Amino acid sequence: MLITNSTLITFGKKNQVIHDGAILITGKHIADLGQTAELTAKYPAEEILDAQGKLAMPGLICAHTHFYGAFARGMAIPGEAPQNFPEILEKLWWRLDKALFWQDIRYSALVCLIDAIRHGTTTLVDHHASPTAIEGSLDIIAEAVAEAGVRACLCYEVTDRDGEEKTREGIEENERFIKKMKGELGGTQGNLVGATFGLHASLTLSDETLEKVVGVANELGVGFHIHVAEDMADQRDSLKKSDLRVVERLNRFGVLGPQTIAVHCVHVDAYEMDILRETGTHVVHNPRSNMNNAVGVADVPGMLRRGIDVGLGNDGFSNNMFTEMHTAYLLHKLSKSDPRVMGADQVMQMEFQNNAQIASVFFPDPLGQLSVGALADIVLVDYVPTTPLTAGNFPWHIIFGVDGTGVDTTIVGGRVLMRNRELLTLDEEEICAKSREWAGKLWKRV
Ligand SMILES: [Zn+2]
Repeated sequence: MLITNSTLITFGKKNQVIHDGAILITGKHIADLGQTAELTAKYPAEEILDAQGKLAMPGLICAHTHFYGAFARGMAIPGEAPQNFPEILEKLWWRLDKALFWQDIRYSALVCLIDAIRHGTTTLVDHHASPTAIEGSLDIIAEAVAEAGVRACLCYEVTDRDGEEKTREGIEENERFIKKMKGELGGTQGNLVGATFGLHASLTLSDETLEKVVGVANELGVGFHIHVAEDMADQRDSLKKSDLRVVERLNRFGVLGPQTIAVHCVHVDAYEMDILRETGTHVVHNPRSNMNNAVGVADVPGMLRRGIDVGLGNDGFSNNMFTEMHTAYLLHKLSKSDPRVMGADQVMQMEFQNNAQIASVFFPDPLGQLSVGALADIVLVDYVPTTPLTAGNFPWHIIFGVDGTGVDTTIVGGRVLMRNRELLTLDEEEICAKSREWAGKLWKRV
């Protein structure tokens, strides 16, 4: 398939803007890039997808999300409103996740996947919890991901908060699913579903559990996906348990490393940042969630300056990563009272380059760029620039002018999932109706 008549923003090493550009897709990968006139002459027999002047960009990546969070939208929390982060966990999230059954897991994932396709998010790293329905929960999500046709890495959040039995079941679910995915992947590349080992957070994990999960993960050859120092409560708990701060505690057990994702890192000190850098641990920043939970502002500029790979996630907010980028761009300027902080180019670095680094842990072929040999995860976006658009200034066009609602076409691994805003793999009306029905039932249980 040949995408023609498009303004390409390539990202990747070349980081070019190609006006009147074209992309040749062969199988799951990008096979050629260039000017429309040149490529149409070179490949006269190819099926044409005329972009009609739209922007072509790599599909967006969300490096941390919770599909099950979809069912919290509009849900009333009984009693007094939570006053702090531990209360938000106890009154909202831990009540909601305990009420999740099989259909809830399926439909909350499907509505997120629709939202992702609609807003051009083509790769997601999910963090799942459903203490009442653990075994097989990851298969249900994997099935939904495969139906949608997007790329996702899945894991189950192991925690000690529900007793030993649930801890054991959570460990087994990760182990079972990772083995299954390894078997299915069989070393081939370009698959849609990946797996890693999920952990909730230091504050709900005992020393015994940490020791155990590291043993299992090492044997499987995987890293972890864990919330780190999201709130000061995590630091207080860690200091009480171990006399160590969260990152030191996790490092002592061997949780960190180049395959591990440390989510949030809002309350890490300089020494902890050095550990994150030295271990090659990836960090994921979720500005909308941090603002909503009032947990604080992560020192993202400081972590980027240290050379830590900081990516962007949505932590269960909408799957419109353009909104997450806009928020990241604004938050740090306000927080530091300095308009020079967090340039649009740095936001692009997090969303595309750094998130692609994170995705590469699970999906070995290049992502987050339009380049020959990269996976053909491409979005076409309606955007008519009103000022010159160049390789030097496109990040500011994206921050100030482009939004996920402008996404018209979404392609993953060469397969068109949405064309002219019409979903081709999922029945949106039916899924949303069922989602409302199941969410309504779940709210009654909560
Ligand atoms: Zn999270």
